[in-house]
Amino acid sequence: MIQKILIANRGEIALRIVRACRELGIKTLAVYSEADVQSLHVQLADEAICIGGPRSADSYLRADRIISAAEIGDVDAIHPGYGFLSENAKFAEQCESCNIKFIGPKSAVISTMGDKAKAKETVKKAGVPTVPGSDGTVDSEDEAIKIARKIGYPVIIKAVAGGGGRGMRIAHNNVSFAKEFHSARNEAEQVFGNAEVYIEKYIDKPRHIEFQILADNHGKVLHIGERDCSVQRRHQKLIEESPSPFLTSDLRKKMGKAAVKAAAAAGYTNAGTIEYIVDGKGNFYFIEMNTRIQVEHPVTEEMTGIDLIKEQIRIANGDKLSFSQRDIKFDRHAIECRINAEDPARNFIPSPGTIGLYYAPGGHGVRVDSHVYGGYVIPSHYDSMIGKLICYGRDRKTAIERMYRALSEYIIRGVKTTIPLHKAIMSDPVFIEGKATTAYMEEFMNRTPSDLFNSD
Ligand code: ADP
Repeated sequence: MIQKILIANRGEIALRIVRACRELGIKTLAVYSEADVQSLHVQLADEAICIGGPRSADSYLRADRIISAAEIGDVDAIHPGYGFLSENAKFAEQCESCNIKFIGPKSAVISTMGDKAKAKETVKKAGVPTVPGSDGTVDSEDEAIKIARKIGYPVIIKAVAGGGGRGMRIAHNNVSFAKEFHSARNEAEQVFGNAEVYIEKYIDKPRHIEFQILADNHGKVLHIGERDCSVQRRHQKLIEESPSPFLTSDLRKKMGKAAVKAAAAAGYTNAGTIEYIVDGKGNFYFIEMNTRIQVEHPVTEEMTGIDLIKEQIRIANGDKLSFSQRDIKFDRHAIECRINAEDPARNFIPSPGTIGLYYAPGGHGVRVDSHVYGGYVIPSHYDSMIGKLICYGRDRKTAIERMYRALSEYIIRGVKTTIPLHKAIMSDPVFIEGKATTAYMEEFMNRTPSDLFNSD
């Protein structure tokens, strides 16, 4: 039985894991950088060990120090959260070889599904639709241009190791293709240490709809419904909701079945996400699998009542999933707004600093996942997300009205945040009518005066 878990992460997800462990009676060991001494996850975990300097490369990305901390702390398992080492097959393998359970899929599965070109090939073989494009990676510019012409412009050039919207470029013709091809490769090399790219047809104004998967070590693979993550800025999600206002129940069934088939074909275990883009006609295409828990997982939790972090721990412990596909009830609507310390009135420039007055909203159907508090200093070393506000209710209208109400109550002084932006979106007719595609944010920002986003 798992009795003690090391949490190889920081911020709200580290706190989220501490909370799940506490409810399961499992002890927690937090690791933290010198910049995170004040962080709530450090204060609320049973034990904490400092693993290095503020830079991620000196702490949260140091597999060797994390494994040493796990050995000193005598833990049974490591939960990697999202980001950092969560999709690092080598780290998962190191855990496996030290007899520490990695709370996620097997390292070999991370290797395959973490490589976006290999993942596409795997699910394509299983009969899941993928975006038309190159067969695997393309190294030479000449070959790449030929493929792009064959696919037909516009095309999107994507890094196999990509994530967080980095290493992706769109090209509209042969001239821009050469430039974008090299800049995608350069960015991929710099950010991921791997320049390999592949090419896909660029689908016009799609929706991003993903399916949550849970799979145990006894052959059961289930999907826990979808999340519509079409509200994105520069390919980064800002708002997620479930169910998607776009899907008919027929299409939902088809996409859910395909997601289960894709995960099963990969030999997947634990929690993961099958991501699709869907065009205006309802054609759906697999784009990638995330082999970890995702930022937006609370949307699924509040829509279904299933605690995904606890399920991850139970699966890693070797337990069987205690429910079947038919038992899962999709009977609520949930929305999540990412609260970032950024200034939406000034091109989303990061706004680190000290939080003054802090008051989080509450009441019926409101959940706040955040590690910050009044007096907390937001370090400049990490991403700018300082919390997630999740609101849910019996239907979409209730969830939107509740979100607007909760955003209006949320007070975070001292830094700029995305709260005013979310309020404006919650009262925007295009969003309210459920018509947002991935092109929505750009169009919304262009037609909305930026002084509306001022949090002062
Ligand atoms: P990352 O791993 O960096 O998040 P993804 O492959 O998940 O990259 O894509 C992120 C976003 O980029 C998608 O949600 C979608 O908005 C856009 N995108 C990706 N592939 C395509 C495509 N072929 N056509 C149109 N948009 C795409």
